[in-house]
Amino acid sequence: MFSKILIANRGEIAVRIIRACNDLHIKSVAIYSRIDKESMHVKMASESYEVSSDPLKAYLDGDAIINIAINCGAEAIHPGYGFLSENAEFARKVKNAGIIWIGPDYSVIAKMGDKNAARELMKKNGIPIVPGTKTLNNYSIQEIKIMANKIGYPVILKASNGGGGRGIRVVRNDNDIEDNLAACKREAMAFFKNDEVFMEKYIENPRHIEFQIIADNYGNIVHLLERDCSIQRRHQKLIEIAPSPTMSFDLRRKMGSAAVAAAKAANYTNAGTIEFLVDDLNNFYFMEMNTRIQVEHGVTEEITGFDIIGRQIRSASGEILDLNQSDILHQGYAIEVRINAEDVANDFMPNPGKITTYYPALGPFVRIDSAVYKDYVIPPNYDSMIAKLIVRASSYNLAVNKLVRALEEFTIRGIKTTIPFLLNIAKDRDFRKGNFDTSYIENKIQELMPNEAINKDDIVAVIATAIAIKAGY
Ligand code: ADP
Ligand code: ADP
Ligand code: MG
Repeated sequence: MFSKILIANRGEIAVRIIRACNDLHIKSVAIYSRIDKESMHVKMASESYEVSSDPLKAYLDGDAIINIAINCGAEAIHPGYGFLSENAEFARKVKNAGIIWIGPDYSVIAKMGDKNAARELMKKNGIPIVPGTKTLNNYSIQEIKIMANKIGYPVILKASNGGGGRGIRVVRNDNDIEDNLAACKREAMAFFKNDEVFMEKYIENPRHIEFQIIADNYGNIVHLLERDCSIQRRHQKLIEIAPSPTMSFDLRRKMGSAAVAAAKAANYTNAGTIEFLVDDLNNFYFMEMNTRIQVEHGVTEEITGFDIIGRQIRSASGEILDLNQSDILHQGYAIEVRINAEDVANDFMPNPGKITTYYPALGPFVRIDSAVYKDYVIPPNYDSMIAKLIVRASSYNLAVNKLVRALEEFTIRGIKTTIPFLLNIAKDRDFRKGNFDTSYIENKIQELMPNEAINKDDIVAVIATAIAIKAGY
């Protein structure tokens, strides 16, 4: 087992990984940018090093990070999610420096990071994929229109190296292909430094169902059941549920086997996720594989009792996976909501700033993964997600009750957050019935919009003023 691990990340996931290190009696090394000096991951780690004064470069300068790992004697690097986590070149450099990468081999990251190549591999291995094309970059608009008509509109254009819901465009007819293709390429270039784009059939109103898998270095692979991540805004997940409230035993068995087969086809090691789309007839299609820990891993931990980050570390250190598929049982339902520092009424604009009051929800079966605290100043330079609220209960219905209760308790002041919006979802009948697909938020956006920021404090203030006026003060 390792004695020291460097965490090449920040925020809640860095804190989560530090906790796993502490649980395993491993020293943790934090890296940070100057503005993150007061961050929780820096305060919590055994050691910490400033990489750069530049907010982003600090977490993207692979060479500098590897040097820190070498100099401080870290035997392994955990990349978290985002930043360098899916950067095969960085993973290769880590390995060549004699440091263990807590994740799959760089060759697997490269292969699965290219959605096109991943689709090919799955097709070869008999795993259903969404009908679509290979790269479109060598074709004329005319040829692309012919392909789109052959697949049948609507189609979806996707960046081959995309992630985080970016570089995705739905196109419904010939007239809209050209502009959307150009926009998609531009976005792909800006975010992923690669403008390769491909096309898939757009599955109308599907559910996003993904399977968590965990593997050792010796070909043993099990899945830890599924998560329903259909509640999305602009192709980015907001709420994740494990297991799926609409999953049948039979479909789980089929999709679980396909997920393990997909991981085996990729020679997968460590933790990963196979994402599928499920249509209204319960046909499922491989969408992509994420070769890293995911934001929503916590719901799976809650229902299975496995510490996935701990397992990642143990697998990377060479432990044999001591689990058979039949050992994986689950209890109850867990729901995670992503609390973002955003102004919902203003098109979900990021709303960084100082947190003046912070009271996380507490009580039985409520878990908060976060890296913020009272008086913390959220910098504008990073992702707007500031906390994940995870609840668990014996049934989906009771988990929804608990979610409502916890969201009503959770108090953050000083900045605007998505809590009121999430609360409206939690209180929605269709959400409670499990009656949703990836179009849920788009279809209900008006209904879900919080009443313009009347919070409990304002009400108290209004009443106090009214009483004061009446009393003649
Ligand atoms: P998950 O599949 O774990 O839910 P998300 O798609 O929500 O992941 O992305 C998690 C985080 O990583 C987000 O902050 C997102 O912006 C970032 N991210 C995801 N993919 C990429 C990528 N290819 N490049 C850069 N950042 C990414
Ligand atoms: P990312 O790498 O950004 O996570 P994905 O390929 O996983 O991109 O797609 C993100 C989301 O976009 C999916 O969860 C789904 O809601 C939607 N999506 C992607 N492909 C399709 C498709 N072929 N049909 C319908 N929706 C899709
Ligand atoms: Mg995805």
